[in-house]
Amino acid sequence: ERVDFTDFFHSIIDRFEMNKYEQDLSFERQLPDKPHWVWIDKDKMTQVLYNVLSNAIKYSPDGGTITCKVDVKGKMLNVTVTDQGVGIPSDQVDRIFDRFYRVDKARSRKLGGTGLGLAIAREMIEAHDGKIWANSKEGQGTSITITLPVMHQKRGDA
Ligand code: ATP
Ligand code: MG
Repeated sequence: ERVDFTDFFHSIIDRFEMNKYEQDLSFERQLPDKPHWVWIDKDKMTQVLYNVLSNAIKYSPDGGTITCKVDVKGKMLNVTVTDQGVGIPSDQVDRIFDRFYRVDKARSRKLGGTGLGLAIAREMIEAHDGKIWANSKEGQGTSITITLPVMHQKRGDA
């Protein structure tokens, strides 16, 4: 269905912002001030963003900021979620999208989860003709980037 991603992402962040977390966290929004239309399965995209944001929260330190950014470059919408958490060793960054792969099994087990979230996210994003990848520095934080094709605007489209 046709969705204004700006509005859609705001409402997802709103929901996360209302929750209480073990750490003191803040959410920073760097979202456009106008609509950007994408063709997405809303439920699936909610699941993807829910997992990415939950991961950012799980691995954030007390006082951490989670930055949610959207910008448009050409025909693609870029969505980035950046945390200031533990980060991921560079030799494992690409593996986090593998099924059941988890960095540091002991730590991850304590924090819960199955290691499926990002594998499912990649499947869903690719089904939307987009891409998803991670950048990370150990000890400094992680950012997850998602790209999605923007719908071309027809004349008369609201
Ligand atoms: P699930 O999502 O199924 O509940 P999970 O969160 O462990 O479990 P994924 O979301 O697929 O699984 O993430 C895989 C692994 O990647 C995590 O276990 C963690 O080791 C690492 N990871 C993911 N996001 C981050 C992040 N923001 N910071 C640090 N490590 C991360
Ligand atoms: Mg997860």
